[in-house]
Amino acid sequence: MNEAGTTVIAVASGKGGTGKTTVAAHLAIAGARTMPTVLVDLDVEAPDATGYFKDARPSGAAEEVSVLVPRLLEARCTGCGLCARTCRFGAILAIGGVMTIDQKACKGCGACVAACPTAALEETPMTVGATSISDAGGLSLLEGRMVVGDIRSTVVIEATKKRAAASYASLSVRDCPPGVSCPATHAIEGADYIVLVAEPTEFSIHDLKAAIGLANGRGIPAGVVINKDGFGDADIAGFCEREGIPVIGRIAFKRERAASGAAASLWRGDPAITEEIDTILARALAGARRGTLR
Ligand code: SF4
Ligand code: SF4
Repeated sequence: MNEAGTTVIAVASGKGGTGKTTVAAHLAIAGARTMPTVLVDLDVEAPDATGYFKDARPSGAAEEVSVLVPRLLEARCTGCGLCARTCRFGAILAIGGVMTIDQKACKGCGACVAACPTAALEETPMTVGATSISDAGGLSLLEGRMVVGDIRSTVVIEATKKRAAASYASLSVRDCPPGVSCPATHAIEGADYIVLVAEPTEFSIHDLKAAIGLANGRGIPAGVVINKDGFGDADIAGFCEREGIPVIGRIAFKRERAASGAAASLWRGDPAITEEIDTILARALAGARRGTLR
């Protein structure tokens, strides 16, 4: 639980297509039945969690996410090249005393501006994404979305997390980007518990191993939800046992469930699912509490 009293559950997966977003949406619905809950879409390159809630209505203003990028004031530049040598991200090229700034590669750290001895670099805001908030019958939906073609997903993820923290919900369910790269790492950072969604296939197990490593590396307690249980024949439960990670839920494979995930529609009128999701949420919250007490 963070300073604002919010328990943060991150829903992640080692690869795409496991049903991660569907599980996140249902966990948020289950949470909203008993406590103020926000579903936070941190899959900012392709956010689709809000799409599950066709009746959602905006409940606040959209907020732009921007970074301060340097702009060259040529008249002041001596061509010393210090800014290019300072940039850790290779966003400034110095060729023959001529500076070229790739603003799309800039992370907005400001190091070059501070280093320039002649104040020839001026910071200017550049939009990289936006956050938007809506309400779906008492469940808050917060979405981070990157500008198409931009590569600074982590900036948008951090801005979305910050806005989520200001929502003062009791439960925050994060839909994280798939995989274990930088965006996924940022998305799980600060979570109290990670729900790893995987399918019983060898391919999924391979990616799950990496995702478990990510959770362990951050010291965040985690549990596995086996989605499409019965679809593949890989022994994912045995794998989890060997890895020392609990299986906190199984969602049996049914064609109509798989189809609703693909169409971003909820598993309505499926009481078995409601019960299973409630159990998963209870186990995740218990795991988060144990983690807090460690
Ligand atoms: S550090 Fe300043 S003066 Fe030197 S090349 Fe960069 S912008 Fe020009
Ligand atoms: S602000 Fe940081 S990332 Fe951007 S160009 Fe300057 S040093 Fe590089």
